[in-house]
Amino acid sequence: MLARIQTAVSLLYPPRCLGCGYMVESDFGLCGPCWRETSFIGGTVCESCGTPLPGAVDGHRIECDDCMAHPHPWSHGRAALMYEGRARQLVLALKHGDRPEIARPAGRWLAHAARTILVPDTIVVPVPLHWSRFLKRRYNQSALLAQSLAQELGIEVCPDQLLRRKRTATLEGKTAEQRFITLKDAIQLNPNRMERLQGRTVLLIDDVMTTGATLSACSVACQASGAKDVRVLTLARVAMDA
Ligand SMILES: [Zn+2]
Ligand SMILES: [Zn+2]
Repeated sequence: MLARIQTAVSLLYPPRCLGCGYMVESDFGLCGPCWRETSFIGGTVCESCGTPLPGAVDGHRIECDDCMAHPHPWSHGRAALMYEGRARQLVLALKHGDRPEIARPAGRWLAHAARTILVPDTIVVPVPLHWSRFLKRRYNQSALLAQSLAQELGIEVCPDQLLRRKRTATLEGKTAEQRFITLKDAIQLNPNRMERLQGRTVLLIDDVMTTGATLSACSVACQASGAKDVRVLTLARVAMDA
């Protein structure tokens, strides 16, 4: 039945490339040229932030200079894409362009990026959006990504575990220090979900990681509620040396 509905839907709306709108064979994907223009992260990466690093994996924990200089409060981090070119366009389209359908294939990309940091009993938690932004945008892109990922992996998700209790100014263009100050006390646990993270491994989801200030604030909130470990996964990672 579901398959028949999907067939009907794809006849009405033939699958199109998320990057350029060109018709594609498979549903919810990218055409060949757009796929090649999208910077998927692979190979050796920083264990903490997911930035690609030179050299081969040797079984030891490897971190980039930035993470060594400024350790994050979470244990492991990964990202699916580098925030540049076509990947940046897709992230911006999901965030500001009213293109929630991007979350579906992005969930698959996230699942692939997460494979080395997944442990049993993981619960997926998105970075929250303030309600005023939610009204404007109509969806929280991080929650869509979290739901898509959890569905892809068949694991538990709690979309409203964290709340943003005050509206923070945009972080774009701010230094790492300014970001931390802006976010101090901005993230709160949902009072109705106080017990849920007890003893669990949390996988925090956001669309983009720049300095990691938002993810840090969320990690601290999860740890305060009894999470035994916090890991982070973002759709894209901004190159810090750029
Ligand atoms: Zn395309
Ligand atoms: Zn790093």
